[in-house]
Amino acid sequence: MYIIFLGAPGSGKGTQAASVARELGLAHIASGDLLRQAIERGNELGLKIKACMEKGILVADELAIQVVLERVSAPDCHNGVILDGFPRNLNQVEALDKALAQQSKAIDWVVYIKVSEEELIKRLSGRWVCRNCQTSYHSQSSPPRVQDRCDLCGGELTRRPDDTAETVGKRLMVYFTETAPLIDYYTQGGKLLEVAGEGSIAEVGSRIITALRGRELIAG
Ligand code: ADP
Ligand code: ZN
Repeated sequence: MYIIFLGAPGSGKGTQAASVARELGLAHIASGDLLRQAIERGNELGLKIKACMEKGILVADELAIQVVLERVSAPDCHNGVILDGFPRNLNQVEALDKALAQQSKAIDWVVYIKVSEEELIKRLSGRWVCRNCQTSYHSQSSPPRVQDRCDLCGGELTRRPDDTAETVGKRLMVYFTETAPLIDYYTQGGKLLEVAGEGSIAEVGSRIITALRGRELIAG
């Protein structure tokens, strides 16, 4: 089972992808996390990635494609995966389709989490993320129980360096110009499942599970 989670920065796709992956027993592959891990290695490639991320632009396709496809070919991905943040443009779509076709596989569904632009800006500008387990919090709508500490693991909460007002605007622009065309592409392919992304994390999560159940992907 190969499912893509599609949505703007701040749509909640990362949170939802992680919980649906747990529920379905699939690997969760977040391109942003893979790229951040590459930065941690501290080499020249890492510096290039970091510069793109801080500007809010996409890293080079070749690189994103290589990092993600390598991960998708790992043994824990044989039953399928949930892809989060990839593909992000039509070039990446093509590379993914080709790689899956070589293994006689294909994308089954694309879960598109739709959120208004106004709400996206609000969410991103108050976002805090656990340094340890990547859980997100929002200073107004979902603050942690203890200031600066993760409710789940006690880890330290930090701002993502690309959540500054300036970079947020750029990331949204990149999303609308480069990634949003994928919505039409997957609609035409009959694969798009659109889910309203406003409401609580649990509400959105149950909408996603309902949409997937409607496609008889999950017994239930
Ligand atoms: P968000 O979608 O909330 O902005 P991500 O962690 O998915 O967060 O992505 C953060 C940054 O990582 C992007 O702004 C971009 O620079 C880079 N990135 C992530 N995925 C890709 C991709 N598939 N192709 C190119 N760049 C990517
Ligand atoms: Zn945590």
